[in-house]
Amino acid sequence: MNVHLTFDIEVWCNGWINLDSEFASCYPRYVYGHSRHGDYALPKTLEILDRHGLRGVFFVEPLFSARFGASYLERIVRLIDDAGQEVQLHLHPEWTDEIRPAILANISRKRQHLTYYSLDEQTALIHYAKSLLESALGKPVSAFRSGSYAINEDTFQALASNGIAIDSSINRCYAISAPKLVREHGATAPIAVNGVISYPVTVFHDGFGRERPAQVGACSFGEMRQALESARDERCSNFVIVSHNFEMLKAGRSDPDFVVVRRFEQLCRFLAENKDAIPVSGFDHHAKVQPSSAKPRSPRTGMLPTVWRIAEQLARRGFS
Ligand SMILES: [Zn+2]
Repeated sequence: MNVHLTFDIEVWCNGWINLDSEFASCYPRYVYGHSRHGDYALPKTLEILDRHGLRGVFFVEPLFSARFGASYLERIVRLIDDAGQEVQLHLHPEWTDEIRPAILANISRKRQHLTYYSLDEQTALIHYAKSLLESALGKPVSAFRSGSYAINEDTFQALASNGIAIDSSINRCYAISAPKLVREHGATAPIAVNGVISYPVTVFHDGFGRERPAQVGACSFGEMRQALESARDERCSNFVIVSHNFEMLKAGRSDPDFVVVRRFEQLCRFLAENKDAIPVSGFDHHAKVQPSSAKPRSPRTGMLPTVWRIAEQLARRGFS
């Protein structure tokens, strides 16, 4: 089983009013997350990965830079690429109507999800975003994750037209995420659509039997470890973990959330200690797994780590 440790990297401005003044304070928070404890956004994420010898995949959202300037995107990809980590494409079309000159004909209102755009519009948006990212990075990208996991059949066609053969957008906890494909295939194994191979975000059943994505900020370390062991026992070929550039920060602040920091440290230590049995790999040269018709069962965890997560959540609310 291959583990993919993925991070969605994006910058937001507390809404869509006073974008320029908000951006001035939001950009340093989202990118660096400076506090008296250290820089717990990208720098600390990269440091922890490096310390454990792990290679992550960083899906970077480039459209925001068409509003504010290419140098802001360049700084992000330099941090990641210089750390020897993999840069791939993330896309939040919420930025489309903020960009001048307009990049699409019909952008009179904000359309949040990529699936709200036609095939031609999706193709143009992915092309535009890919060009921004590749010129900042100085080399090609080959994998994609859609913002908010919003993806449909047209998206796969748009990816194929743009030369992107790997996707990791399907997350069955989100209704907007390829519902038809999820119904047909179950989303517990890679799916091939229009020549694109999609590696779904891993979803497991927690101690109460509820579905939960394998997200660093949303699971206790015990849940993540048991879900990894369970997926390996179910002979899953891939296990996709999600996090964000701001996942180790407290909501709306630059101070670290040490509950999440500890989870991420524990996860990285576990993955480093088990790298022979469950290796962590990127997507750039990933062509080992061919999708099959096998539908492994979803991984599951026991009750104890789920109860622990709920206790952690209550403690976080109490101390924040
Ligand atoms: Zn995103």
